[in-house]
Amino acid sequence: MAKNKNSSRQCSFCGRPEEEVGILISGLNALICNDCSAQANEISQEALNLKSSDSGKLKLNLSDLPKPEAVKAFLDQYVIGQDDAKRYLSVAVYNHYKRLLQEDSEDDVEIEKSNIIMVGSTGTGKTLLARTIAKQLDVPFTIVDATVLTEAGYVGEDIESILTRLLQVADYDVEKAEIGIVFIDEIDKIARKGDNPSITRDVSGEGVQQGLLKLLEGSIINVPPQGGRKHPDQKMIAVNTKNILFICGGAFDGIERRIAQRLNTHVVGYKASQEVAKVDKNNFIQYITPQDLKSFGLIPEIIGRLPVLTYLNPLDRQALRQILTEPKNSVIKQYKKLLSMDKVDLEFEEDVLDYVVDKAIEFKLGARGLRSIVETIMMDVMFEAPSLNLDVFVVTLDYARKQIEKSNLAALE
Ligand code: ADP
Repeated sequence: MAKNKNSSRQCSFCGRPEEEVGILISGLNALICNDCSAQANEISQEALNLKSSDSGKLKLNLSDLPKPEAVKAFLDQYVIGQDDAKRYLSVAVYNHYKRLLQEDSEDDVEIEKSNIIMVGSTGTGKTLLARTIAKQLDVPFTIVDATVLTEAGYVGEDIESILTRLLQVADYDVEKAEIGIVFIDEIDKIARKGDNPSITRDVSGEGVQQGLLKLLEGSIINVPPQGGRKHPDQKMIAVNTKNILFICGGAFDGIERRIAQRLNTHVVGYKASQEVAKVDKNNFIQYITPQDLKSFGLIPEIIGRLPVLTYLNPLDRQALRQILTEPKNSVIKQYKKLLSMDKVDLEFEEDVLDYVVDKAIEFKLGARGLRSIVETIMMDVMFEAPSLNLDVFVVTLDYARKQIEKSNLAALE
């Protein structure tokens, strides 16, 4: 570099003369310009951060962790019913983070990972539970659909893509991602297709289950940072899944029949028949055991790595009615908020809410349907209200009925 003849003072780091930099700060035997000092500051900050959060122990502290009862109380604000699932989840999550904290303990007792599997019909709150827990813990959370996964080398997504998403939501902060939560939805769709897997290659079934094993138990996986297929030139990011909590969910359609069969056939004798009599025949899902998952087609190794098994009850009329208004961000509260931003006070007559529930049941849409039904009822109001200068809008049963009858939803009847 040509030296500037007009100045004898220059930055000792980048060599630029005084005229070319903002300011030069002088030390004992050296000078530093503002750019270099800013860069030095960044480098030292990064190094300090790395030191303070070594080996993934990222700011976790047992006294800060919400206790299982607090986790459940938080879930209660957003999710209606499903008490058993809430209790199992709260304990499993608490133990998971406890395990993370005791990593360096002296004794030989090693707490194993408590990945979770939730079984229950679609739209009963599995995703909502997982999402709400992640929100409370403030850890990176991602949802992946097991149906898009295939064994490496086949059309579909590689298993590693699960971690790509987690990295993305953690802003590529690997340590943060390594204590995140992954929700794998539709795990039942990768069940083994038949009893004899050797007849045809089962690349989206057992093949994926085999691939998932490594992830679930905890190992270092090379993840393509942008997702997609691995190729030789791509720079990989190594992610350790040891402390990532996996929560799997699935509807396992038809599993109730298997449970019912097991309950009837596996019990013999007088005492046993009394037991059978106590079984609630309207809701077999509550008796689910790992054995039922195996007979559905999950391989034993996968079941072993998902030690916490819980279930979600089907939603009855009363639950749907509560879901409409009670959760912290219930559909009705959301619409009230939307209109309040236009200074319109939105009110629903009680029988409108019952009507919405009736329609959701009639259209067989479950809890997911509540939203689309309310949306249909509210469409015209939301279009007109902002320009009408209204103070109050009351949704009456008559109005709701008319809106539904003229909509596409009515075609579902
Ligand atoms: P899935 O069991 O298929 O994962 P979701 O959790 O995605 O179902 O539920 C779909 C929607 O239905 C949620 O966004 C939520 O609005 C509503 N919902 C379902 N179950 C419940 C519940 N138990 N409490 C409150 N809302 C629920």
